[in-house]
Amino acid sequence: MKNPLLEPFEKAPFSKIKSEHFKPAFLQAIEDARAEINAIVENPEAPTFENTLEALDFSGQQLDRISSIFFNLNSAETNEEIQKIAQEVSPLLSEFSNDITLNQPLFERIKTVYGQRENLSLIPEQQTLLEKRYKSFSRNGANLNEADKKRLREIDAELSKLKLKFGENVLAETNKYEMLLSNEEDLKGLPEGSKEAAAQLAQSKDKEGWLITLDYPSYIPFMKYAENRALRKELSLAFGSKGFHNDALDNQENVLQIVALRHERANLLGYATHAHFVLEERMAETPEKVLEFLNELLEKAKPAAEREFAELEAFAKELDGIAHLEKWDSAYYSEKLKQKLFNLDDEKLKPYFKLENVISGVFQVAEKLFGLTFKEVFNVDKYHDEVKTYEVYEDSGNFVSLFYADFHPRPGKRGGAWMTSYKPQYTLNGKNSRPHVSNVCNFTKPTTSKPSLLTFNEVTTLFHEFGHALHGMLANTVYPGLSGTSVYWDFVELPSQVMENWCYEKEALELFAFHYETGELIPMELVEKIKESATFQEGMATIRQLSFGFLDMAWHGSDPSDIKNVKDYETKAFESTALFPDTAETCMSTSFSHIFQGGYSSGYYSYKWAEVLDADAFAYFKEKGIFNKEIAYRFKEHVLSKGGTENPMELYKRFRGSEPKIDALLERAGLLETKD
Ligand SMILES: [Zn+2]
Repeated sequence: MKNPLLEPFEKAPFSKIKSEHFKPAFLQAIEDARAEINAIVENPEAPTFENTLEALDFSGQQLDRISSIFFNLNSAETNEEIQKIAQEVSPLLSEFSNDITLNQPLFERIKTVYGQRENLSLIPEQQTLLEKRYKSFSRNGANLNEADKKRLREIDAELSKLKLKFGENVLAETNKYEMLLSNEEDLKGLPEGSKEAAAQLAQSKDKEGWLITLDYPSYIPFMKYAENRALRKELSLAFGSKGFHNDALDNQENVLQIVALRHERANLLGYATHAHFVLEERMAETPEKVLEFLNELLEKAKPAAEREFAELEAFAKELDGIAHLEKWDSAYYSEKLKQKLFNLDDEKLKPYFKLENVISGVFQVAEKLFGLTFKEVFNVDKYHDEVKTYEVYEDSGNFVSLFYADFHPRPGKRGGAWMTSYKPQYTLNGKNSRPHVSNVCNFTKPTTSKPSLLTFNEVTTLFHEFGHALHGMLANTVYPGLSGTSVYWDFVELPSQVMENWCYEKEALELFAFHYETGELIPMELVEKIKESATFQEGMATIRQLSFGFLDMAWHGSDPSDIKNVKDYETKAFESTALFPDTAETCMSTSFSHIFQGGYSSGYYSYKWAEVLDADAFAYFKEKGIFNKEIAYRFKEHVLSKGGTENPMELYKRFRGSEPKIDALLERAGLLETKD
C-alpha cells in the first residue's frame, strides 16, 4: 500500500491522506533526513558553502512538508486520532532537531566555512544563511569546552522544568479560584450572555447561583460591566495575586531561579546578560536600544496617559462619587466613558462588512498595490469543503502562489486567526519554486437568512493575516530557511500590521464596504468614529504596554544576583509607569507567563516596536498616496520579497530611506496633540 505522504507531491494531497499515514511517513522522513545530514558530515571533500550550508538548508524537505501538513491540520481540522499522533511524533521531532544542533562534526564543517567567510565572495543571502546556521550552533554551546557544555545542558534541563512548573502554578491558581454569587443583584450591569454563562458554569459544577472565575471569558466581562465595586475589587485582587500566596503554588522562588539561570547561561556563552543574548538576533539589537526606545515612548505617552487618567477619575466621580480610581475601576469606567463618547457598537458596522465583500476588498488592495490577481480554482485538493483555493498571478501573468483561505469556525479548529504555509518558496537548480500559503480564521458562519457579517475587529484581523500571507506569497529568495516570514521576531509583524491601516482609509473602504442589503457605501462619519474610538485612552494603553516591557527588561537586562524580593523589585521597575495606586496583595511577575513560561523574555517591547514600524511605513504611503505603485513596489522589493535574507534594519532603510521614527505612531495614536 502506497503512502501518499511519501510519494513526491507538488500540492498537499489532502484527499488521499488518512490519519494512519502520518506516523509511518514521519518515521521514514526523519530517517531520510538523518541520512541526508550524515551524507553532509561524511562527505570526504573539504567543507564548502555548497556542500555544507546549502546542502543542509535543502535537506529534510519531505519531512518539512509532512510536518506542515500535519501540524496545520492539527490546528485547523483536528480530531482525537490526530491529537494522539501529535503526542507521539512531537518528541521524535524535537529529538531529531536536538541531534542536529548537538552534531559536533556537522558544526566543525560549518565552523570551517564560517572561518573562511571573508574570502568566499558570498552574496548577502548566503552570508546571512552562514551566520544564522553558525549561530544556531554556537548559541547552543557548540564552542564551549566539555565542562561548560555539561553545565549548559544542566541549566537547560533545569530551566525547562522551572518554566513548566511556573506555568502549572499559574494554571492551578487560575482554576482554583471561584467566586460563587447567589444574589442576582451582584451581577447587575453584566450583559445577558455573560450572566447565562456564569449560571451555566455554576450548574456544571452542581452549584446554585452564578460562578465567576479567573478565566478571561468570565473575568473580563465582570471587570468591564459589573456594578458591584467590592466584588470587582475581590476579583481583581484574586487575578493579580496568582502565584503570590506563599504556598505550594507560589512562583516567587521560580522567578528568581529562572532569571538567575538565564543570566548564568548567557554568561557561559559570553553575553553580559540574558537580554544581550536574546537581542543579538533581533532588529533592536541591544538592551540599551530597547530601553532607549521604551523611554522615548514613555516620555511622549505619559502626559496623555495622565490626562486620560484624570478624565476617567473625574468621570467616575461624577457618575458614582468615586474619590480615588483604583485598578478595579479602570475597565468598568473606561467602558462606560467609551459608550458615552462614541456610542459605536458592532451591530451598527457589521452590515457594511459582508465577508465576501471584505475578501474582494483585500484582493483589490493587493491588486492596486502589487499588481496581484486572485483566481478562485476548484481543482485543488483541500482538507475541508469550506476551504477556498486561489491561484495568485502577477501583472506579467507569472504564477505567484497558491492561496488557501479557511474562514469559519468548526469543532476541530482552534480559536483565533493565523497565517501558515504548506510549502515554502525557494530557488533550486535555477527554478523558482512558488509557495503555498494559507489563512485560517474563525469568522461567524452565514445562515440561510444572513450572510457572514464581520465586526470591524474581524475586518482588521482579515487584513492583518492577509499581510502575513503576502509576506509568504511574494517571497523571492534562494534558500527556504530564509524565505517569507522566516525573519526576526520584532520584524515579522510589519507586513501584517501595516495592512490593517488600509481598513481606516476612505479610498480603500470605497472598494468594498457596502451595506449587504442596500448596497449603500459606509457613511464616512461612521469611519471617523471608528478612527477616533481606535485611539480612545491610547496614552493609558501605551503606558501599560511599556510597563510590561520595562518589567521584562528589569528581569533580564542586568545581573539578578542581588535581587532578594520579587515584589519590591517589580515595584521599582513599575515606578515610572504607575498610574493606579499599588496594592500590596498583588504581584505581576509571579503570573507573567509571557516572559517566564513562553518565549517573550526580553521580547515584550516588540509589540510596540512593530507598531512603530507599521505606522512609520504607512506614513510613507499616506504621504505619497495609499495606492502609490512606486512605494508599494519598494515595499515589495525591499521587505516582502526579501524574507530573512538580510538584516531587517537594512531592508527597512532601503524601503523607507531612513530608520523608523516613532513620530508616525505618536500621531496616529493621538499622542502628539494637547487637548484643552
Ligand atoms: Zn500577526
